[in-house]
Amino acid sequence: MKNHLQKPILGCIADDFTGASDLASFLVNSGLRTLQVNRIQVDADLELDGYDAIVIALKTRTVDASISVETSLAALQWLKKLGCRKFYFKYCSTFDSTPDGNIGPVIDALLDALELQSTIICPALPVNGRTVYMGHLFVGDAPLNESPLKDHPLTPMKDSSVVRLIEAQGQGKAVNIPYTCIEGDEMALKQALLEAAQKYRYIVLDTLNTAHLERIGRNVEAFTLITGSSGLATNLTSEFSKYGCIPDSSKRAVRLPDGPTLILSGSCSAMTQRQVAQYKLKHPALYIDPFKLLDHTQTYEQILDWAVQNKSAAPLIYTTSSKEIVSKVQSEIGFETSQALLEGTLAKLAHDCIKAGFKNIVVAGGETSGAIVKTLNIHAFEIGQSVSPGVPILHSITPPIINLALKSGNFGDQTFFQTALEKLTCQ
Ligand code: ADP
Repeated sequence: MKNHLQKPILGCIADDFTGASDLASFLVNSGLRTLQVNRIQVDADLELDGYDAIVIALKTRTVDASISVETSLAALQWLKKLGCRKFYFKYCSTFDSTPDGNIGPVIDALLDALELQSTIICPALPVNGRTVYMGHLFVGDAPLNESPLKDHPLTPMKDSSVVRLIEAQGQGKAVNIPYTCIEGDEMALKQALLEAAQKYRYIVLDTLNTAHLERIGRNVEAFTLITGSSGLATNLTSEFSKYGCIPDSSKRAVRLPDGPTLILSGSCSAMTQRQVAQYKLKHPALYIDPFKLLDHTQTYEQILDWAVQNKSAAPLIYTTSSKEIVSKVQSEIGFETSQALLEGTLAKLAHDCIKAGFKNIVVAGGETSGAIVKTLNIHAFEIGQSVSPGVPILHSITPPIINLALKSGNFGDQTFFQTALEKLTCQ
Protein backbone atom coordinates (compact mmCIF):
# COMPACT_ATOMS: atom_id res chain seq x y z
CA MET A 1 0.00 0.00 0.00
CA LYS A 2 1.24 3.48 -0.75
CA ASN A 3 2.16 5.43 2.32
CA HIS A 4 0.73 8.67 1.03
CA LEU A 5 -2.04 9.85 -1.20
CA GLN A 6 -1.64 11.56 -4.51
CA LYS A 7 -3.89 14.37 -3.28
CA PRO A 8 -3.66 16.13 0.09
CA ILE A 9 -6.39 15.16 2.55
CA LEU A 10 -6.22 17.92 5.10
CA GLY A 11 -6.55 21.57 4.08
CA CYS A 12 -5.61 24.09 6.76
CA ILE A 13 -6.26 27.82 6.88
CA ALA A 14 -4.07 29.70 9.37
CA ASP A 15 -4.75 33.31 10.29
CA ASP A 16 -1.07 34.32 10.48
CA PHE A 17 2.34 33.25 9.21
CA THR A 18 4.11 31.97 12.31
CA GLY A 19 0.86 30.24 13.36
CA ALA A 20 0.87 28.41 10.03
CA SER A 21 4.42 27.10 10.55
CA ASP A 22 3.55 26.17 14.11
CA LEU A 23 0.59 24.08 12.90
CA ALA A 24 2.62 22.63 10.04
CA SER A 25 5.31 21.46 12.45
CA PHE A 26 2.69 19.66 14.57
CA LEU A 27 1.38 17.93 11.46
CA VAL A 28 4.87 16.89 10.37
CA ASN A 29 5.66 15.60 13.84
CA SER A 30 2.65 13.34 13.66
CA GLY A 31 3.87 11.92 10.35
CA LEU A 32 1.94 13.91 7.76
CA ARG A 33 3.92 15.24 4.82
CA THR A 34 3.03 18.92 4.90
CA LEU A 35 3.36 21.87 2.57
CA GLN A 36 2.95 25.50 3.67
CA VAL A 37 1.95 28.05 1.05
CA ASN A 38 1.92 31.80 1.45
CA ARG A 39 -0.65 32.75 -1.09
CA ILE A 40 -3.66 31.15 -2.66
CA GLN A 41 -2.70 31.50 -6.28
CA VAL A 42 0.53 29.56 -6.26
CA ASP A 43 2.23 28.74 -9.53
CA ALA A 44 0.18 26.42 -11.68
CA ASP A 45 3.11 24.04 -12.10
CA LEU A 46 3.72 23.67 -8.36
CA GLU A 47 4.02 19.96 -7.58
CA LEU A 48 1.39 19.23 -4.92
CA ASP A 49 1.07 15.47 -5.25
CA GLY A 50 2.30 13.39 -2.38
CA TYR A 51 1.48 15.85 0.38
CA ASP A 52 -0.95 14.75 3.09
CA ALA A 53 -1.67 18.26 4.35
CA ILE A 54 -1.54 21.78 2.96
CA VAL A 55 -1.39 24.81 5.25
CA ILE A 56 -2.21 28.24 3.85
CA ALA A 57 -0.70 31.15 5.78
CA LEU A 58 -3.06 34.12 5.67
CA LYS A 59 -2.76 37.45 7.49
CA THR A 60 -6.34 37.76 8.64
CA ARG A 61 -6.21 37.91 12.41
CA THR A 62 -6.59 41.62 12.83
CA VAL A 63 -7.84 42.84 9.46
CA ASP A 64 -11.42 43.92 8.88
CA ALA A 65 -13.82 40.96 9.38
CA SER A 66 -15.21 41.13 5.85
CA ILE A 67 -11.70 40.89 4.35
CA SER A 68 -10.87 38.05 6.71
CA VAL A 69 -14.00 36.14 5.62
CA GLU A 70 -13.44 36.77 1.93
CA THR A 71 -9.78 35.68 2.07
CA SER A 72 -10.55 32.59 4.14
CA LEU A 73 -13.32 31.54 1.73
CA ALA A 74 -10.97 31.92 -1.22
CA ALA A 75 -8.45 29.73 0.61
CA LEU A 76 -11.15 27.13 1.26
CA GLN A 77 -12.16 27.03 -2.40
CA TRP A 78 -8.54 26.53 -3.42
CA LEU A 79 -8.07 23.71 -0.91
CA LYS A 80 -11.28 22.05 -2.12
CA LYS A 81 -10.07 22.27 -5.70
CA LEU A 82 -6.87 20.51 -4.66
CA GLY A 83 -9.00 17.62 -3.44
CA CYS A 84 -8.81 18.21 0.33
CA ARG A 85 -11.58 16.41 2.23
CA LYS A 86 -11.07 17.68 5.75
CA PHE A 87 -10.52 21.29 6.79
CA TYR A 88 -8.82 22.94 9.75
CA PHE A 89 -9.12 26.60 10.68
CA LYS A 90 -6.12 27.49 12.84
CA TYR A 91 -6.16 30.47 15.18
CA CYS A 92 -4.15 31.50 18.21
CA SER A 93 -4.18 29.48 21.43
CA THR A 94 -5.23 32.64 23.25
CA PHE A 95 -8.27 32.88 20.96
CA ASP A 96 -6.87 36.26 19.87
CA SER A 97 -10.15 37.95 19.43
CA THR A 98 -12.44 40.53 20.90
CA PRO A 99 -16.24 40.01 20.97
CA ASP A 100 -16.32 41.50 17.48
CA GLY A 101 -13.23 39.60 16.35
CA ASN A 102 -12.73 37.55 13.23
CA ILE A 103 -12.76 33.96 14.46
CA GLY A 104 -16.58 33.67 14.65
CA PRO A 105 -17.34 35.24 11.25
CA VAL A 106 -14.69 33.10 9.55
CA ILE A 107 -15.98 29.89 11.16
CA ASP A 108 -19.55 30.76 10.13
CA ALA A 109 -18.49 31.44 6.56
CA LEU A 110 -16.52 28.18 6.35
CA LEU A 111 -19.43 26.18 7.83
CA ASP A 112 -21.87 27.70 5.36
CA ALA A 113 -19.57 27.17 2.39
CA LEU A 114 -19.10 23.52 3.36
CA GLU A 115 -22.84 23.15 4.09
CA LEU A 116 -22.13 22.04 7.64
CA GLN A 117 -24.12 22.65 10.83
CA SER A 118 -21.44 22.40 13.45
CA THR A 119 -17.75 22.43 14.34
CA ILE A 120 -15.46 22.06 17.30
CA ILE A 121 -13.60 24.91 19.00
CA CYS A 122 -10.33 23.77 20.57
CA PRO A 123 -7.90 26.64 21.25
CA ALA A 124 -5.89 24.89 23.98
CA LEU A 125 -2.15 24.31 23.77
CA PRO A 126 -1.24 22.81 27.16
CA VAL A 127 2.52 22.60 26.42
CA ASN A 128 2.49 26.39 26.29
CA GLY A 129 0.24 26.73 29.33
CA ARG A 130 -2.95 27.43 27.36
CA THR A 131 -5.75 25.26 28.71
CA VAL A 132 -9.54 25.29 28.63
CA TYR A 133 -11.38 24.44 31.83
CA MET A 134 -15.18 24.50 31.97
CA GLY A 135 -15.16 26.50 28.77
CA HIS A 136 -12.79 29.15 30.17
CA LEU A 137 -9.42 29.77 28.59
CA PHE A 138 -6.45 29.92 30.96
CA VAL A 139 -2.95 31.26 30.35
CA GLY A 140 -0.83 29.46 32.94
CA ASP A 141 -2.72 29.76 36.21
CA ALA A 142 -4.74 32.86 35.25
CA PRO A 143 -7.98 33.13 33.28
CA LEU A 144 -7.34 34.87 29.95
CA ASN A 145 -8.96 38.12 31.10
CA GLU A 146 -6.65 38.29 34.14
CA SER A 147 -3.48 37.38 32.21
CA PRO A 148 -1.12 40.00 30.71
CA LEU A 149 -3.01 39.47 27.42
CA LYS A 150 -5.98 41.42 28.76
CA ASP A 151 -4.08 44.56 27.67
CA HIS A 152 -2.90 43.31 24.28
CA PRO A 153 -2.65 46.38 22.01
CA LEU A 154 -4.48 44.82 19.04
CA THR A 155 -6.77 42.24 20.62
CA PRO A 156 -7.45 43.06 24.29
CA MET A 157 -8.80 39.90 25.88
CA LYS A 158 -11.47 40.90 28.37
CA ASP A 159 -13.41 37.64 28.70
CA SER A 160 -12.11 34.14 29.35
CA SER A 161 -15.32 32.32 28.39
CA VAL A 162 -14.82 30.80 24.95
CA VAL A 163 -18.53 29.94 24.86
CA ARG A 164 -19.49 33.60 25.38
CA LEU A 165 -16.84 34.89 22.97
CA ILE A 166 -17.78 32.61 20.11
CA GLU A 167 -21.51 33.25 20.61
CA ALA A 168 -20.83 37.01 20.56
CA GLN A 169 -18.81 36.74 17.36
CA GLY A 170 -20.81 34.11 15.52
CA GLN A 171 -24.36 33.42 14.45
CA GLY A 172 -25.12 30.33 16.50
CA LYS A 173 -25.23 28.73 19.93
CA ALA A 174 -22.26 27.20 21.73
CA VAL A 175 -21.93 24.38 24.24
CA ASN A 176 -19.05 23.27 26.43
CA ILE A 177 -17.93 19.64 26.62
CA PRO A 178 -16.37 19.42 30.09
CA TYR A 179 -13.04 17.73 30.79
CA THR A 180 -14.79 14.89 32.65
CA CYS A 181 -16.39 13.87 29.37
CA ILE A 182 -13.13 14.34 27.43
CA GLU A 183 -11.25 11.97 29.73
CA GLY A 184 -14.12 9.50 30.22
CA ASP A 185 -15.14 6.58 28.04
CA GLU A 186 -14.20 7.27 24.41
CA MET A 187 -17.40 5.86 22.94
CA ALA A 188 -19.35 8.15 25.26
CA LEU A 189 -17.18 11.09 24.18
CA LYS A 190 -17.83 10.35 20.51
CA GLN A 191 -21.53 10.11 21.25
CA ALA A 192 -21.53 13.38 23.24
CA LEU A 193 -19.87 15.15 20.33
CA LEU A 194 -22.41 13.79 17.87
CA GLU A 195 -25.33 14.80 20.11
CA ALA A 196 -23.87 18.27 20.63
CA ALA A 197 -23.49 18.64 16.87
CA GLN A 198 -27.26 18.10 16.43
CA LYS A 199 -28.12 21.08 18.64
CA TYR A 200 -25.17 23.49 18.67
CA ARG A 201 -23.11 25.27 16.05
CA TYR A 202 -19.95 25.57 18.19
CA ILE A 203 -18.69 22.82 20.49
CA VAL A 204 -16.10 24.19 22.92
CA LEU A 205 -13.86 21.42 24.23
CA ASP A 206 -12.22 21.45 27.63
CA THR A 207 -8.54 20.53 27.37
CA LEU A 208 -6.30 20.39 30.41
CA ASN A 209 -3.38 18.40 29.05
CA THR A 210 -1.86 16.78 25.99
CA ALA A 211 -3.56 13.46 26.75
CA HIS A 212 -6.87 15.30 26.28
CA LEU A 213 -5.69 16.60 22.90
CA GLU A 214 -4.82 13.05 21.87
CA ARG A 215 -8.30 11.86 22.79
CA ILE A 216 -9.89 14.77 20.98
CA GLY A 217 -7.80 14.07 17.87
CA ARG A 218 -9.03 10.48 17.83
CA ASN A 219 -12.69 11.46 18.09
CA VAL A 220 -13.34 14.31 15.67
CA GLU A 221 -13.63 12.18 12.58
CA ALA A 222 -17.28 13.16 12.13
CA PHE A 223 -16.40 16.85 11.73
CA THR A 224 -15.41 17.90 8.22
CA LEU A 225 -14.33 21.27 9.63
CA ILE A 226 -12.34 21.44 12.84
CA THR A 227 -11.02 24.64 14.43
CA GLY A 228 -8.41 25.38 17.06
CA SER A 229 -4.80 26.15 17.84
CA SER A 230 -1.91 24.01 16.61
CA GLY A 231 -2.49 21.71 19.60
CA LEU A 232 -5.52 20.19 17.89
CA ALA A 233 -3.10 18.66 15.35
CA THR A 234 -1.41 16.58 18.06
CA ASN A 235 -3.12 13.34 17.10
CA LEU A 236 -5.13 13.70 13.93
CA THR A 237 -3.50 10.92 12.04
CA SER A 238 -5.70 8.05 13.21
CA GLU A 239 -8.50 8.93 10.82
CA PHE A 240 -6.05 9.31 7.95
CA SER A 241 -5.42 5.60 7.80
CA LYS A 242 -8.89 5.15 6.31
CA TYR A 243 -7.62 7.04 3.25
CA GLY A 244 -4.58 4.75 3.03
CA CYS A 245 -2.26 7.33 4.55
CA ILE A 246 0.12 5.81 7.05
CA PRO A 247 1.87 8.31 9.33
CA ASP A 248 5.58 8.12 8.67
CA SER A 249 8.08 10.11 10.67
CA SER A 250 10.66 9.87 7.86
CA LYS A 251 8.45 12.40 6.08
CA ARG A 252 10.06 14.97 8.34
CA ALA A 253 13.27 14.78 6.35
CA VAL A 254 13.80 17.59 3.89
CA ARG A 255 16.23 17.91 1.09
CA LEU A 256 18.77 20.36 2.41
CA PRO A 257 20.81 22.35 -0.05
CA ASP A 258 24.42 22.41 1.12
CA GLY A 259 25.81 25.81 1.82
CA PRO A 260 26.51 28.64 4.20
CA THR A 261 24.22 29.93 6.90
CA LEU A 262 23.34 33.54 7.73
CA ILE A 263 21.65 34.56 10.97
CA LEU A 264 19.60 37.75 11.01
CA SER A 265 18.13 39.04 14.23
CA GLY A 266 15.64 41.91 14.38
CA SER A 267 13.84 40.79 17.52
CA CYS A 268 14.50 42.71 20.72
CA SER A 269 12.81 40.29 23.10
CA ALA A 270 14.61 39.32 26.30
CA MET A 271 15.26 35.78 25.03
CA THR A 272 16.57 36.99 21.68
CA GLN A 273 18.98 39.31 23.47
CA ARG A 274 20.34 36.29 25.38
CA GLN A 275 20.51 34.23 22.18
CA VAL A 276 22.50 36.95 20.41
CA ALA A 277 24.90 37.33 23.36
CA GLN A 278 25.44 33.56 23.48
CA TYR A 279 26.02 33.12 19.75
CA LYS A 280 28.46 36.07 19.58
CA LEU A 281 30.82 34.24 21.93
CA LYS A 282 31.88 31.83 19.18
CA HIS A 283 30.83 33.34 15.86
CA PRO A 284 31.43 36.57 13.94
CA ALA A 285 28.69 39.08 14.68
CA LEU A 286 27.88 42.56 13.38
CA TYR A 287 25.51 45.09 14.93
CA ILE A 288 23.53 47.36 12.63
CA ASP A 289 23.28 50.73 14.30
CA PRO A 290 20.22 52.63 13.02
CA PHE A 291 21.78 56.02 13.79
CA LYS A 292 24.97 55.17 11.89
CA LEU A 293 22.93 53.75 9.04
CA LEU A 294 21.11 57.05 8.75
CA ASP A 295 24.21 59.27 8.90
CA HIS A 296 26.05 56.87 6.53
CA THR A 297 28.88 56.07 8.92
CA GLN A 298 27.75 52.45 8.50
CA THR A 299 26.64 51.67 4.97
CA TYR A 300 24.56 48.85 3.54
CA GLU A 301 27.43 47.89 1.22
CA GLN A 302 29.82 47.54 4.18
CA ILE A 303 27.38 45.24 5.97
CA LEU A 304 26.84 43.09 2.90
CA ASP A 305 30.60 42.86 2.24
CA TRP A 306 31.17 41.82 5.84
CA ALA A 307 28.54 39.08 5.55
CA VAL A 308 30.08 37.72 2.36
CA GLN A 309 33.60 37.81 3.80
CA ASN A 310 32.41 35.79 6.79
CA LYS A 311 30.31 33.41 4.72
CA SER A 312 31.99 30.24 5.90
CA ALA A 313 31.64 31.10 9.61
CA ALA A 314 27.83 31.37 9.89
CA PRO A 315 27.83 35.10 10.66
CA LEU A 316 25.19 36.87 12.74
CA ILE A 317 23.90 40.31 11.78
CA TYR A 318 21.63 41.92 14.32
CA THR A 319 19.72 45.03 15.23
CA THR A 320 18.68 43.46 18.53
CA SER A 321 19.00 46.04 21.29
CA SER A 322 17.94 46.72 24.85
CA LYS A 323 14.60 48.32 25.70
CA GLU A 324 16.34 51.64 26.39
CA ILE A 325 18.03 51.76 22.98
CA VAL A 326 14.83 50.75 21.18
CA SER A 327 12.95 53.62 22.91
CA LYS A 328 15.70 56.07 21.97
CA VAL A 329 15.64 54.90 18.34
CA GLN A 330 11.86 55.07 18.19
CA SER A 331 11.64 58.53 19.73
CA GLU A 332 14.50 60.05 17.68
CA ILE A 333 13.97 58.32 14.33
CA GLY A 334 10.27 57.55 14.66
CA PHE A 335 8.52 54.20 15.14
CA GLU A 336 7.49 53.53 11.58
CA THR A 337 10.62 54.95 9.99
CA SER A 338 12.94 52.91 12.20
CA GLN A 339 10.87 49.77 11.68
CA ALA A 340 10.92 50.17 7.90
CA LEU A 341 14.64 50.99 7.95
CA LEU A 342 15.69 48.01 10.07
CA GLU A 343 13.29 45.39 8.70
CA GLY A 344 14.02 46.63 5.18
CA THR A 345 17.78 46.40 5.69
CA LEU A 346 17.62 42.85 7.07
CA ALA A 347 15.26 41.76 4.30
CA LYS A 348 17.53 43.20 1.60
CA LEU A 349 20.51 41.50 3.23
CA ALA A 350 18.69 38.14 3.14
CA HIS A 351 17.96 38.66 -0.54
CA ASP A 352 21.48 39.77 -1.49
CA CYS A 353 23.22 37.15 0.64
CA ILE A 354 21.22 34.39 -1.07
CA LYS A 355 22.39 35.81 -4.38
CA ALA A 356 25.91 35.66 -2.96
CA GLY A 357 25.55 31.94 -2.18
CA PHE A 358 24.06 31.61 1.31
CA LYS A 359 21.66 28.64 1.48
CA ASN A 360 20.32 28.77 5.04
CA ILE A 361 18.76 31.82 6.68
CA VAL A 362 17.84 31.88 10.36
CA VAL A 363 15.68 34.83 11.43
CA ALA A 364 14.69 36.10 14.87
CA GLY A 365 11.59 38.31 14.97
CA GLY A 366 8.01 37.76 13.82
CA GLU A 367 7.64 41.02 11.91
CA THR A 368 11.22 40.74 10.70
CA SER A 369 10.50 37.23 9.39
CA GLY A 370 7.39 38.49 7.62
CA ALA A 371 9.39 41.25 5.92
CA ILE A 372 12.09 38.78 4.85
CA VAL A 373 9.69 36.16 3.45
CA LYS A 374 7.85 38.89 1.56
CA THR A 375 11.04 40.28 0.05
CA LEU A 376 12.29 36.81 -0.92
CA ASN A 377 8.90 36.22 -2.59
CA ILE A 378 8.83 32.53 -1.69
CA HIS A 379 5.41 30.94 -2.21
CA ALA A 380 5.71 27.43 -0.83
CA PHE A 381 7.69 25.52 1.78
CA GLU A 382 7.98 21.89 2.71
CA ILE A 383 8.10 21.60 6.47
CA GLY A 384 11.07 19.84 8.04
CA GLN A 385 12.19 18.99 11.54
CA SER A 386 11.82 21.47 14.39
CA VAL A 387 14.66 23.61 15.71
CA SER A 388 12.62 24.16 18.85
CA PRO A 389 8.91 23.60 19.57
CA GLY A 390 6.82 25.56 17.05
CA VAL A 391 9.87 26.54 14.95
CA PRO A 392 10.32 24.12 12.05
CA ILE A 393 12.88 24.31 9.29
CA LEU A 394 11.13 25.56 6.16
CA HIS A 395 12.49 24.25 2.89
CA SER A 396 11.39 26.41 -0.04
CA ILE A 397 10.13 24.53 -3.07
CA THR A 398 9.78 27.62 -5.21
CA PRO A 399 12.88 29.74 -6.00
CA PRO A 400 15.07 30.71 -4.29
CA ILE A 401 15.66 27.16 -3.03
CA ILE A 402 16.89 27.65 0.53
CA ASN A 403 16.16 26.63 4.11
CA LEU A 404 14.68 29.04 6.59
CA ALA A 405 14.16 28.88 10.33
CA LEU A 406 11.95 31.73 11.55
CA LYS A 407 11.29 32.37 15.21
CA SER A 408 9.34 35.12 16.81
CA GLY A 409 9.80 36.82 20.16
CA ASN A 410 10.69 34.57 23.02
CA PHE A 411 10.74 31.23 21.19
CA GLY A 412 13.71 28.94 21.71
CA ASP A 413 16.26 28.69 24.48
CA GLN A 414 19.59 30.50 24.87
CA THR A 415 21.36 28.24 22.34
CA PHE A 416 18.67 28.60 19.65
CA PHE A 417 20.99 29.98 16.93
CA GLN A 418 23.62 27.30 17.50
CA THR A 419 20.93 24.59 17.49
CA ALA A 420 19.46 25.98 14.29
CA LEU A 421 22.91 26.03 12.68
CA GLU A 422 23.54 22.41 13.66
CA LYS A 423 20.15 21.20 12.44
CA LEU A 424 20.54 23.07 9.18
CA THR A 425 24.01 21.84 8.39
CA CYS A 426 24.47 18.47 10.08
CA GLN A 427 21.80 16.23 8.56
P1 ADP B 1 9.50 39.95 17.98
O1 ADP B 1 9.03 38.69 17.36
O2 ADP B 1 10.53 39.74 19.05
O3 ADP B 1 8.38 40.87 18.40
P2 ADP B 1 9.70 41.52 15.59
O4 ADP B 1 10.62 41.34 14.43
O5 ADP B 1 8.27 41.12 15.39
O6 ADP B 1 10.32 40.73 16.82
O7 ADP B 1 9.67 43.00 16.06
C1 ADP B 1 10.81 43.69 16.45
C2 ADP B 1 10.68 45.10 15.91
O8 ADP B 1 11.68 45.91 16.53
C3 ADP B 1 10.91 45.16 14.41
O9 ADP B 1 9.96 46.00 13.82
C4 ADP B 1 12.31 45.74 14.32
O10 ADP B 1 12.52 46.44 13.12
C5 ADP B 1 12.37 46.64 15.53
N1 ADP B 1 13.75 46.82 15.97
C6 ADP B 1 14.74 45.93 15.92
N2 ADP B 1 15.88 46.44 16.38
C7 ADP B 1 15.62 47.70 16.74
C8 ADP B 1 16.39 48.76 17.28
N3 ADP B 1 17.69 48.62 17.54
N4 ADP B 1 15.77 49.93 17.51
C9 ADP B 1 14.46 50.09 17.26
N5 ADP B 1 13.68 49.14 16.75
C10 ADP B 1 14.24 47.95 16.48
